[in-house]
Amino acid sequence: MSAAKIKAPRGTFDVLGEDAARRTALEARARSVLEGAGYERIETPAFEATELFARGVGESTDIVRKEMFTLEDQGGRSLTLRPEGTAPVCRAYVEHGMHKRRQPVKLWYLSSFFRHERAQAGRYRQFWQVGAEAIGSEDPAVDAESISLLAALLAEMGVRGLRLRLSSLGSHESRREYRERLQAHLRANEQSLSEDVRSRIELNPLRAFDSDHPGTQSVMRSAPRLLEHLSAQDAEHFAHVRELLDVAGVVYEVDATLVRGLDYYTRTVFEFTSDALGAQSGVGGGGRYDGLVEQLGGPPTPGMGWAAGIERIMLAAENGPTGGSTHSPPPAPVELFVALESPREDLRTAAFGLLSEARSAGLSAQMDLGGRSLKGQLGLADTLGARYVAIVADAHTTLKDMQAGRQEPLATNAVVHAVLRGQHAL
Ligand code: AMP
Repeated sequence: MSAAKIKAPRGTFDVLGEDAARRTALEARARSVLEGAGYERIETPAFEATELFARGVGESTDIVRKEMFTLEDQGGRSLTLRPEGTAPVCRAYVEHGMHKRRQPVKLWYLSSFFRHERAQAGRYRQFWQVGAEAIGSEDPAVDAESISLLAALLAEMGVRGLRLRLSSLGSHESRREYRERLQAHLRANEQSLSEDVRSRIELNPLRAFDSDHPGTQSVMRSAPRLLEHLSAQDAEHFAHVRELLDVAGVVYEVDATLVRGLDYYTRTVFEFTSDALGAQSGVGGGGRYDGLVEQLGGPPTPGMGWAAGIERIMLAAENGPTGGSTHSPPPAPVELFVALESPREDLRTAAFGLLSEARSAGLSAQMDLGGRSLKGQLGLADTLGARYVAIVADAHTTLKDMQAGRQEPLATNAVVHAVLRGQHAL
């Protein structure tokens, strides 16, 4: 009896074939866009103290209330698989005393994140995000640069039907006053609201703007708008961000109903969506979080950043859908294929030695690992598009230049040199 098959958990997927190749390409573009703008790579642990997200992301958010994968370690400490990247990066900023470095400190990451969500197309329980955080400056140019970089990356990736929505949530102080106004409006219309929104009037009234419940939506149409109640300083900051985005040629719409699902945002918030995606249309978004570092035990420090979903970028990009594809990527060109004339152990050892030597010399080299006959090996070399084929035999090795159609007998230890010389001559 054969054993039962074990599948990947719900909402997770394997990355392989063409999909893996497209991710590698995306990572290379992200690196070039972000490192070109002075961002440094950071990787934080896959799990953190639960307290980090409870305090950082906020107790009233869906993420913390319903979506965290939390576990207890053997010492009884509560740990959580990271659901987002900003709180961990700010934790690292504080832990490594990065406020002593030149500000702003600009960091980028490409990592996987975990949320216990209802799995569907474009929404997974383990997903990948590329993100960028600029910590330590409240200059509106930081906001505009950050948004422009995501715009550039999404454009380079060929994401179709992009829309950028932009708003400002003001500082915590100006928001406090506004919250009271909004709460009064919600309480006055309580009977029309969804259960969920009603239960959050005290804790998180702004999320009512995100509701897809028809009654709530109609109440929200007449709700006061935060953008109309910004302090003079916050309004000026927002005006600057807009001016700089205009200068940079980034097209956006101001949307006063834009609120984001995390509590730490202040001032600028934004979101890119794509018409090419279905219900899960968010490609990436972010904003300013001027109180977060302090909330995590650091000095008062402003910050600005974003995260974009790798799977959503690939779904919305021109070269079609991703996920579950098992097609092999086009192979990298093979410079040298090492074959053996006959399946003898000593020849295999010599061939393996040649393969290692070629790779140490920086050549892309392969040999047959499937026990093929000489004819089979030459067929494989052909399929791989090998430029040179070395056939290791008893007396000598034959080096074939497949492009020029020439061949010469050589000592095995002279092969790599001959290939390098031949390449040089090209
Ligand atoms: P957020 O951290 O919620 O602002 O999400 C930022 C981006 O990450 C979104 O715009 C999506 O592209 C992506 N994202 C968030 N949650 C998921 C998920 N469960 N599955 C796939 N992508 C996600």
